[in-house]
Amino acid sequence: MKYETVIGLEVHLHLATDSKAFCGCSTEFGQRPNSQSCPVCMGLPGSLPVLNEKAFQYAIKAALALNCKIQDLVKFDRKNYYYPDLPKNFQISQYDMPLSYDGFLEVASKERRKKIRIRRVHMEEDAGKLVHPEKGFNSLVDYNRSGIPLLEIVTEPDLSSPQEAYDYLTALKAILKYLKVSDCDMEKGSLRCDANISVREEGSSKLGAKVELKNMNSFKGVRDALDYEIDRQINFLEEGGKITQETRLWDAENGVTISMRYKEESEDYRYFPEPDLVPFIPDKKLIDGINEGMPELPQARLNRFLKEYGLSEYDASHLTSEAQTADYFEECVKFYPNPKAISNWITGDIASHLNLKNLTIRELGVSPEKIASLLKMIDDGAINGKIAKEVLEEMIVTGISPQEIVKLKGLTQISDVLELERIIEEVLKKNAKSVEDYIGGKKNAFMHLVGQVMRQTKGKASPAVVNEILKKRLKDRSS
Ligand SMILES: [Zn+2]
Repeated sequence: MKYETVIGLEVHLHLATDSKAFCGCSTEFGQRPNSQSCPVCMGLPGSLPVLNEKAFQYAIKAALALNCKIQDLVKFDRKNYYYPDLPKNFQISQYDMPLSYDGFLEVASKERRKKIRIRRVHMEEDAGKLVHPEKGFNSLVDYNRSGIPLLEIVTEPDLSSPQEAYDYLTALKAILKYLKVSDCDMEKGSLRCDANISVREEGSSKLGAKVELKNMNSFKGVRDALDYEIDRQINFLEEGGKITQETRLWDAENGVTISMRYKEESEDYRYFPEPDLVPFIPDKKLIDGINEGMPELPQARLNRFLKEYGLSEYDASHLTSEAQTADYFEECVKFYPNPKAISNWITGDIASHLNLKNLTIRELGVSPEKIASLLKMIDDGAINGKIAKEVLEEMIVTGISPQEIVKLKGLTQISDVLELERIIEEVLKKNAKSVEDYIGGKKNAFMHLVGQVMRQTKGKASPAVVNEILKKRLKDRSS
């Protein structure tokens, strides 16, 4: 029997506001436990929530970027349940009238572009955090996170493979970061993702019972958990089992999912309108203003980079995956109008330095102007490409200009023909065997000789000049 997979994703996102969703407490990460809470986010008697305007604007911005319709009336609801990290016994959320609905996100994968429908984007608040120390029997609770504004972004079950889910998350994160509405840092819990997955016989129109997967803390984790779950469900069905709706936890260490609880239905939460927050009609002017101020989004920027700079799809998508990388690239182009060369450096040497040091391109501390002057020095023949890599490394460490580094370290390229001729003559004398090999037809002996010249000059020789002289000298010797 052949099976197909149906996946829907639910993303929870911390909105990057300074204060919480319904009170003035700070949202700063990593502070002393329970130093950022107040009667409102603790749900103490007599306290009343007030909606954070910035959080509302960020939510609208994200919803519009995801092509959603905005609800005519904004209404909040209480989602009731007990858990020690939720002292109010309810979470302020949105139930039957989500802030926005019916959107989509276009996801480009290797083979095709696909529209993933977005069912709803709504606002809610985060709960506190339980801490379970390894020693002792007590668990602790930290309410600093209680009431941080969250955006929940729910897709329709339009995703049909773990890789597609991964691509969707990557595209979604890129947009959210372009909008600057969240830092999207999964390690800090600013972006969390749950997945609903079911399998069914190929061609069947009926959806199978869905399993909700939780506890994935990277996009790769989401993909791995889905991969595992597809195999598990198919094997179970093949053995005659019946899948039941449940919630399972991803155990990344062992690469398995573990049953946590049978999934509750929304009726179980006894939603009702939040009586402390009056429903309101969002200001049309505000929405229009947010729409007008929308930045160029990743997909549009990628298309422009392909057209305007003639880059490959690979390079353009690397450069536009983060707004600051794309900005950096465009600033470099202003100083040095050779987009292809700049792209090669950013996606090559600069990217490896960033990966190695786990930094963003701005944190590297090398200005676009300095990168431009480094590339100009190669064009002018002052240094060759190999030395330029060395200079870049030095620029990153010291922060000084490429000209100064070349001067201080004596790295200027040797293009002086007379001097190179002298060095080459010496190399040919010392490597008589290679010369013989080359004349005898072993063409790769040439590269060995070039290598020797480069060694003699500590890499500073102009490769073009060396090649030219060397070819001429070898030709003289063979005739
Ligand atoms: Zn508070």
